[in-house]
Amino acid sequence: MIRITDILDRISAYHPGADVEIVERAYIYSARMHEGQVRLSGEPYLSHPLEVAGLLTELKLDTVSVAAGLLHDVPEDTKASLEDIAEMFGSDVAHIVGGVTKLSRLPFRSSEARQAESIRKMILAMADDIRVILIKLCDRLHNMRTLKYQTEDKQIRIAQETLDIYAPIANRLGINWIKNELEDIAFMYLFPHEYREIANKVTRKKEEQGEYVEKVKEIILKRMAEAHINCEVEGRHKHFYGIYHKMMVQQIKFEDVYDILAFRIICHTIPQCYEALGLIHSFWKPIPKRFKDYIAMPKPNMYQSLHTTVIGPFRERVEIQIRTKEMDRVARNGIAAHWQYKEGKTFDEKTSQAFTWLRKLVKEQEYLKDPDEFMETVRIELFPDEVYVFTPRGDVLTLPKGATPVDFAYAIHSEVGNQCLGAKVDGRIVPLKYQLKTGEMVEIITSPHHKPSKDWLSFVKTAKARSRIRQHIKTTERKRSLTLGHDMCEKIFRKHNLNLAKLVKSGEIQKACTELGYKTADDLIAAVGYGKVTPLQVVRYFAPRSELKEKRETIVEKLKQRIRGKKPKPGILVKGLDGILIRYGKCCNPLPGDPVVGYITRGQGVTVHRTTCPHALSMDPARRIELEWAPDTDEVYPVRIHVLGHDRIGLLANITAALSETEANILEASVNTRADKRADCYFTISVVDAKHLEKIMKSVKKIKNVIKVSRITG
Ligand code: MN
Repeated sequence: MIRITDILDRISAYHPGADVEIVERAYIYSARMHEGQVRLSGEPYLSHPLEVAGLLTELKLDTVSVAAGLLHDVPEDTKASLEDIAEMFGSDVAHIVGGVTKLSRLPFRSSEARQAESIRKMILAMADDIRVILIKLCDRLHNMRTLKYQTEDKQIRIAQETLDIYAPIANRLGINWIKNELEDIAFMYLFPHEYREIANKVTRKKEEQGEYVEKVKEIILKRMAEAHINCEVEGRHKHFYGIYHKMMVQQIKFEDVYDILAFRIICHTIPQCYEALGLIHSFWKPIPKRFKDYIAMPKPNMYQSLHTTVIGPFRERVEIQIRTKEMDRVARNGIAAHWQYKEGKTFDEKTSQAFTWLRKLVKEQEYLKDPDEFMETVRIELFPDEVYVFTPRGDVLTLPKGATPVDFAYAIHSEVGNQCLGAKVDGRIVPLKYQLKTGEMVEIITSPHHKPSKDWLSFVKTAKARSRIRQHIKTTERKRSLTLGHDMCEKIFRKHNLNLAKLVKSGEIQKACTELGYKTADDLIAAVGYGKVTPLQVVRYFAPRSELKEKRETIVEKLKQRIRGKKPKPGILVKGLDGILIRYGKCCNPLPGDPVVGYITRGQGVTVHRTTCPHALSMDPARRIELEWAPDTDEVYPVRIHVLGHDRIGLLANITAALSETEANILEASVNTRADKRADCYFTISVVDAKHLEKIMKSVKKIKNVIKVSRITG
């Protein structure tokens, strides 16, 4: 267990003249409040806040953070309150402790929505005062180090949560050593077998490679000395989870992960770094495309370094990282490196720049109300697989991996996005869904008359692009519904010798609005256009009853004719609403349970297609509408299936028996026998939904000599 004197010594070492009195007082207070409490390990509870404070001094944080670290569990676990802490240690300490306490109460385990809410709060806390998250990370690290005392259930849950949330946050803040340790411990509990295997192999490798590492270091140092470059060289092994992750992502064996060992050259100045790089490339051949310049283009978590892979002295691949001492410090401690020695809450220019992603997330969370969407964004932001691309003016834009020219356009300006017609990458035209790569120069071609397309939603990667496109579609959809609704209402009102415009103007229309549950006349008319309300429902409030009845009959009759005798079927909901005229695409015969999409036909309602139907794919995206199946309907739907089998006596009888057993009504059947003695059987059967069909097909497939059963579409 670390002692308070060690902590005080460390602070005085990295911050001479710091006022450590507040830390001492926090220690004494924490000791008194936690007195008598024990950890699951049997140690006195105080060992935990002490270790957390110790970790904070490893990050070289200010005295306020260390004091807050000592007190972080006091309001949660003892009778002292936040007010007490504020009174004794000042509002800064109390504010941070309050933040940590709030975070420890977040439920992470529950449903996606609540988890999203928890992360949203974490991000807000982070933006409020980064020290809250730094303490939380140290708290989690110590809890992970002592995880063996928890029950197995808890071990798994806490390890998973660490891997899902805390390690990515540490990574995003650039605190590499905490990230690595969190990942390795979580890895050990979640995949013990894989962990042991990798750990053993790395240990063996370290033994085998000891001599080799010394040899390579020696060569580098000698060459650098000859060129008068003063530097240090070290050989480092990748952490276990990093190796495992690479094996999983790239689907390779341990033996094929070539960068398990990397050499690090630490220079004094930036020019020396580039000099060292040039030198290395002059005696060891670099592998093309493996060079990365994170000095000129730092990672969003502030990481800076030159990376290269070369063919080494024994014809092997050697991964080399070159950076300055200062960069090395940042690579280890990330955001905390910029926080060190400083008292007070402000960041320097560089750090606050590196924080743009956090500010962006805080801003975006305001308009990402849907938890799924928010989680998606957080996931993208926390797992920084970014690409860096250039504007024609040479500015660098950071985008998530897989981002397209449309994301790029929206990142520049919403208007540029909305009017984005095409794009040029390094001078050549690319499709809009093209995935941008680091280093490319992107030029957007705009047209003032161009509009965003709903299809873009299927490939854009940034939250900004997504929400702007959705917003645009929503507005145009409303505009279109309004015009359509107007046309529909006007027609029927005219038939009854009524004047819609007049009724709107006089406010009489309000009667219908209130009755049907809409605020304004526009809302009501738009609802008609959407198909939520029929024009008949509206006119009913103004036309005399008898006349209406007669008119309605003829209108219904006409509508019936228009949909060619097919009666409108229930069983589908238009965005959760009913009362709309539905037709089913004959091309693809959609069944309840199939993913479907609707197509608004002018004045006739909506035609339903399966999303995979070629007709659905080619239809005007502006007239597309999302649909859902209503639960429980007693409708049945016709569907055609094809059964291929080896012809034998009784085959057809077996199939029909299976069909009736699964309650599929056979409406039509035909059989053709091929020359090779195989039989094609076609059935039109009536089924309840897609699940029912699946069951039917399964039971037919089980029949002896049946080769294939398939649904016929198109
Ligand atoms: Mn704690």
